[in-house]
Amino acid sequence: MKAWVVHEPGPVATGPLRLAERPVPEPGPGELLIRVLRCGVCRTDLHLAEGDLPPRSPDVTPGHEVVGEVVAAGPGVVRFGPGDRVGAAWLAGTDGSCRYCRRGLENLCPRSVYTGWDIPGGYAEYLVAADAYVYELPGGFSDAELAPLLCAGIIGYRALRRAELPPGGRLGIWGFGGSAHLAAQIAIAEGAAVHVFTRTESGRELARELGAASTQDSFDPSPEPLDSAILFAPVGTLVPPGLAALDRGGTLAIAGIYLTDIPALNYEKHLFQERTLRSVTANTRGDGEEFLRLAERHRLRVTVTPYPFDQADRALADLAADRVTGAAVISM
Ligand SMILES: [Zn+2]
Ligand SMILES: [Zn+2]
Repeated sequence: MKAWVVHEPGPVATGPLRLAERPVPEPGPGELLIRVLRCGVCRTDLHLAEGDLPPRSPDVTPGHEVVGEVVAAGPGVVRFGPGDRVGAAWLAGTDGSCRYCRRGLENLCPRSVYTGWDIPGGYAEYLVAADAYVYELPGGFSDAELAPLLCAGIIGYRALRRAELPPGGRLGIWGFGGSAHLAAQIAIAEGAAVHVFTRTESGRELARELGAASTQDSFDPSPEPLDSAILFAPVGTLVPPGLAALDRGGTLAIAGIYLTDIPALNYEKHLFQERTLRSVTANTRGDGEEFLRLAERHRLRVTVTPYPFDQADRALADLAADRVTGAAVISM
């Protein structure tokens, strides 16, 4: 089969992705062999390709927003079988027994493994995934629309919950790509006033179409104090303005796996009055199932820019240059 691999991590302009020939993998116990139909392009893939995220296995195939069809099942598989359409996402496995797993925080499991980082992902014709970790897909979406729901959507949803948005609250969102435009719609459907801060005019336009209360440039002041904020842009210099925009008791959640350095904070201006700064680390399967149900219920609008399989490297370059509206999705 054909598969993209991260051969030598480096700036996307140096071509860190390479198209390779690989044997079709075999499903082991509890595993499914999945034929990839679509794979979303996540910013994490870019961080992996560029070396911001250290590679965990050599020549790994990226991609963790996989919509596919099960073609074979290993022994002991109980949930899905050949012919089923499933979604394979970032969290690929945990030990199920550590202190974090036991208290419902499997996203923090130190022995967790991730699709397209520890094990080969979906920038390929086939991949193997654990039966217990793949998702049943919601109805009402095309395959291309489903792909970004699987990471951008799920992580954005966990970030929204970690931001502790009160009912009818005021939410600020910094950065407006694949993840943000989905989280914003859930917040708006739940009655929030959403203020969007982003440097691209196309992002601001999309935010207005989806019902944002206001849109402005990244470093512009917020039109009103915020109860909650989510930083989707991987830009540490946005943390101080994000915190400064919070009302008393507000929370800023950083959604990404990677962030440039945060400059020094001023206690009075950025944290006093019980403002909270917190990170978001991956997600639990519960987050994923909850989000996919809400996506179907609220009929989320998913904006997709399609790329043919042999142009996965161009998709990453476009993402790096902010040239993608909504989410980039590779089709087979
Ligand atoms: Zn664990
Ligand atoms: Zn992702």
